[in-house]
Amino acid sequence: ATPTALLVGTGRGAQLGILIKGPEILESTRQVDTILLDKTGTITTGKMVVHDVFAGVSSTRDEVLTYAAALEHGSEHPIARAIAQQGEAEFGQLIPVRNFSNIAGQGVTGRLEIGGETVEMTAGRASLFSPLSPELGEQFAAAQALGRTVIVIGRAGASDAAGVLPVAFGVISVGDSVKPTSVQAVSELLALGLTPILLTGDNAAAAHSVAAEVGISEVIAEVLPADKVAAVKKLQAQGKVVAMVGDGVNDAAALAQADLGLAMGTGTDVAIQASDLTLVRGDLRSAAQAIRLSRRTLGTIK
Ligand code: ADP
Ligand code: MG
Repeated sequence: ATPTALLVGTGRGAQLGILIKGPEILESTRQVDTILLDKTGTITTGKMVVHDVFAGVSSTRDEVLTYAAALEHGSEHPIARAIAQQGEAEFGQLIPVRNFSNIAGQGVTGRLEIGGETVEMTAGRASLFSPLSPELGEQFAAAQALGRTVIVIGRAGASDAAGVLPVAFGVISVGDSVKPTSVQAVSELLALGLTPILLTGDNAAAAHSVAAEVGISEVIAEVLPADKVAAVKKLQAQGKVVAMVGDGVNDAAALAQADLGLAMGTGTDVAIQASDLTLVRGDLRSAAQAIRLSRRTLGTIK
């Protein structure tokens, strides 16, 4: 295509709420055959709510929520926001946390002052913890079977020595809902001849439940942030031309690795910076629109 055609295409994109980093990007957009879609915040609203809070035998439901809310207060993750908000709504002020740290794509840790004692706690995915007690394990499995995202909260093991995993005392189930536009977006991507694949760090049950709701048949679940990049590379090694749509800090590396990275304009700055295109409205239908635009721009003027 001529530079003028590409500039016109870029301008048309801007009108549609699709910000394109450079005119040449429209060329690579046309070749895409596979599109990876992040779940939380991309297909779903990312506005999570707390469904249930369960305590093990050694604590109460209110303790579980109080401590989890305090810990999650320091994180921007949609799961963290939901838990912190629920805690604030029920108990008002949250307990201060020291030595807060994020475990990317997995959870959070920090120290809480409880009755004059400093307790090291962790909240996040189950794999961060020692095996759950039977009663917590049962609640965990039941919530997952409902397609919920389930996070665990626990305290540091008996010895603080390296290698001792935290011991769970509660689980919290959260969930969000599919954006009303996502179903149509997926059918438009399929109509363009693309293969959509749902890629998420969340559990397989939650991933499959969302995939079924929007009409996606391929799912890659329970991937750590670094493994999102590996998933992109693997498809590229199979000769696929891969687009990736994401919104989170955890998606940034995969967005950069993809042949075409598309960020939700409603997402994090890191994701936007790593991408070639920004979907300003945070509407997945803009991804299909971007691909149609590039095909049209490059098809009409040869
Ligand atoms: P997605 O790929 O759907 O956007 P993420 O990669 O952001 O999901 O998160 C993957 C999983 O890591 C979550 O389902 C959750 O179990 C865990 N996780 C990530 N951040 C947090 C947090 N702040 N608190 C609790 N769990 C977390
Ligand atoms: Mg996300």
